[in-house]
Amino acid sequence: MHLIDLSSPIDAKAWEPNPITHDIMTPAEGAVHMAREMKEHADIDFDPSVLPDGELLNLDTLSLTSHTGTHVDAPSHYGSRAAYGVPLTIDELPLDWFHRPGVVLDLSDAPVGTIGAERLEEEFDRIGYTPRPYDIVLLNTGAERYAGTPEFFSDFAGLDGPATELLLDLGVRVVGTDAFSLDAPFASMIESFARTGDRSVLWPAHFAGRKRAYCQIERLANLSALPPTGFTVSCFPIKITGAGAGWTRAVALIGDEPAAPIPTV
Ligand SMILES: [Zn+2]
Repeated sequence: MHLIDLSSPIDAKAWEPNPITHDIMTPAEGAVHMAREMKEHADIDFDPSVLPDGELLNLDTLSLTSHTGTHVDAPSHYGSRAAYGVPLTIDELPLDWFHRPGVVLDLSDAPVGTIGAERLEEEFDRIGYTPRPYDIVLLNTGAERYAGTPEFFSDFAGLDGPATELLLDLGVRVVGTDAFSLDAPFASMIESFARTGDRSVLWPAHFAGRKRAYCQIERLANLSALPPTGFTVSCFPIKITGAGAGWTRAVALIGDEPAAPIPTV
């Protein structure tokens, strides 16, 4: 078995619409900080220079949205109410949605805008496989070419309503994309609404989750390194109580997974 990393980094130096702050306390600063805290809170004197290299431990403090880097959107992200009941937050979702056979659809030739159901069906025919219930379907839209630049957030392709419904009808509960969003870019949806007056063109992929519970993985990486089928995706979201999304270190596992040890009793 080997592993392929499908995650993009959380990088405070990269351009983001919601900038990340990442404050790093070095191990030497950590030593001074600890000595100061001990004095202040317990009136204990401690000389940090007695530590090896005068260093204690590093500490990273971050400020970022839960939609930064590769992350899983929970049903509660899509609206406060749903047709099926109260939408689940990221900490409440069943873990077994997130360790399942993967399917990659190559949509990397899609222009900026929407991808329709017919295009997905063409791709099922090309790869000779139609997703089964609970498969994790990954859309390779080619968005990775703009990773780290402002274009990543404006120039991508996303699913229209019928394309999203097609995947949900097949029983898929986790759909991943390498793009910023599973929907088309904001500007393209708003332009299409202004032209047609049709409200169904506004965030159809996200709003489909108000009818049926499902999750999206956004900002995946490395999808072109995967075969169309024959691998497992593992993408457990971080357990943030009450949150609408959580970061994930998504990976693909290719080949046989090691068998669990057999109990000898
Ligand atoms: Zn998101």
